[in-house]
Amino acid sequence: MVIFSTPRSRAECETLDASDPLRAVRDRFALPDGVIYLDGHSLGPATHAALARVEQAARREWAEGLIRSWNTAGWIDLPRGVGAKIARLIGVDSGDVLVTDSVSVNLFKLAAACLPVARSRTLIVEASEFPTDQYIAEGLAGIAGAGLMRVGENEGLDALTRTGGVLIRSVVNYRAAHVLDVAASERAAWAAGGLIVWDLSHATGVLDLKLAADGARIATGCTYKFLNGGPGAPAFVYVRGDLAEQLVSPISGWFGHADPFAFEPGYVARQGVARFAAGTPGVLSLAALDAALDAFDGHALSTLQDKARALGELIIARADALGLDVMSPREAALRGGHVSLRHAQGYAIVQALIAHGIIPDFRAPDAMRFGVAPLYVRFADVWDAMDQLADILGTRAWDRPEFHARAKVT
Ligand SMILES: *Cc1c(COP(=O)(O)O)cnc(C)c1O
Repeated sequence: MVIFSTPRSRAECETLDASDPLRAVRDRFALPDGVIYLDGHSLGPATHAALARVEQAARREWAEGLIRSWNTAGWIDLPRGVGAKIARLIGVDSGDVLVTDSVSVNLFKLAAACLPVARSRTLIVEASEFPTDQYIAEGLAGIAGAGLMRVGENEGLDALTRTGGVLIRSVVNYRAAHVLDVAASERAAWAAGGLIVWDLSHATGVLDLKLAADGARIATGCTYKFLNGGPGAPAFVYVRGDLAEQLVSPISGWFGHADPFAFEPGYVARQGVARFAAGTPGVLSLAALDAALDAFDGHALSTLQDKARALGELIIARADALGLDVMSPREAALRGGHVSLRHAQGYAIVQALIAHGIIPDFRAPDAMRFGVAPLYVRFADVWDAMDQLADILGTRAWDRPEFHARAKVT
């Protein structure tokens, strides 16, 4: 059944919004009035539930419960409990996901653990990959004395097939939102004796991911983007159950110990993915994420994906009408949860949009990214944003000194 189509007028947008099975979810978000938020691929907005939960975790559990709350408020179980919620969103067993650390740190731990298991001690990363993924591969290769292969865009799998090494690869590319075929990649990796550490940062919460069915074995991903966990919310780690015992985390911290409160001198790793924990978890951030994830309850991932694709089609149709350069794949099945438009003045144009209450983002050197998070973005929002973009381009409203001044974070 096709629920979402591509509207051709604002009235059609309103009709689609009125029959959107996700329309009520938007009310869960504390979005400011007068803002059209198209940056959920960078920082998801707050939910009312997450705000209330942080308040409770701080005032009641911390201030009143004090140290007792590790047990009485279940703090100690949050990394696995929140992991179980994320498991549904990536299509894996609920016990195979742990929430811990940042994506960068998890990439380091996972790739290091994979090196002794893969057929060759070679780290592979594409030059189009998100910078931290490249930096971690470079740094780890140096420390571990492993080979480093930096290859061009879409050449990673080929290099993996030749070497049987460890490939760090995003499912959705951060710049133009290209999607890689997980199942086909895993088949190739398997045949070569290599391993893929998947980075799901731009994919989780917007794609109908089926990692287990696709044969994926190892992954990490971000929770402050489409999962709306809040700024700096901890990332997640997935390791397929049967593989975990073969993997040794290079950071043997006490939270990854089989019995952390036995206070034994020697290290014994925990069973399963929990061995990738290192130190004490950030409880306030975990609490926010735990509550934020409830916004996904009751909605099929396929519905989220269909809506994101339809919103993306609308952006592309309107960008085409404006003669803009579309960087993202036109085929919806090959595109993640944002659409990127290339423009030499992209930075200034994005600043002008923000001044009008429309918030996309910009990635150097020339990509304007428009995120289409299906839980709260409406078709009419996209329509209005594209009207505004047309106006800013037509009147050259972006060409003001304040819109050219680069901030620290873009
Ligand atoms: C956002 C993002 C990250 C973030 O890494 P952190 O270490 O959590 O800051 C990593 N990789 C990709 C592909 C991302 O999109």
